[in-house]
Amino acid sequence: MNENSRRVLMDKNESKSTPLSSIFCLTDKSKLKETEKKEDCFILDYVPDDFLHQFSISNNNTNEVSIVAEKGEVACRDFPHSRHNCARYPFSKTNHESYCQLCYCFVCDRVAPCRMWTEWHCHATNNEIWKSYKQLRREIMRLRREVRRLRRELMELKEVNRDLD
Ligand SMILES: [Zn+2]
Ligand SMILES: [Zn+2]
Repeated sequence: MNENSRRVLMDKNESKSTPLSSIFCLTDKSKLKETEKKEDCFILDYVPDDFLHQFSISNNNTNEVSIVAEKGEVACRDFPHSRHNCARYPFSKTNHESYCQLCYCFVCDRVAPCRMWTEWHCHATNNEIWKSYKQLRREIMRLRREVRRLRRELMELKEVNRDLD
């Protein structure tokens, strides 16, 4: 893949509404080559200067530029992200309870840690089970609010009745 086609792919990814979920975060230098084969676009969680140097030596025979250096903001590190996308504390290698300043709870959509963090929510990832759980939880919260509202109305009615007695 040449540099231009890679740029196009990156642009495409950026135009999606939820780029974080589709961009793979690379944190392990040794997996770069393997990742290059699998992912069209991924984020490096390190400054790859030394690596770029090695890379250019090993690729002397080809014209292909296979890596785009990223020195400025890195999406999974410099912008708010769900815990499972955290670049500072890679989900597969660190304790799920850890979180950085920009980590969000995937379930609550709030800054980590939420009240259910250590029991539950720190383990959340963007899969069908967690998405259903998230939806269900929202619905439960909506119903709870509704119950509270109805209780208040009932109390008010009781008071009116008492006054009438
Ligand atoms: Zn984080
Ligand atoms: Zn939560």
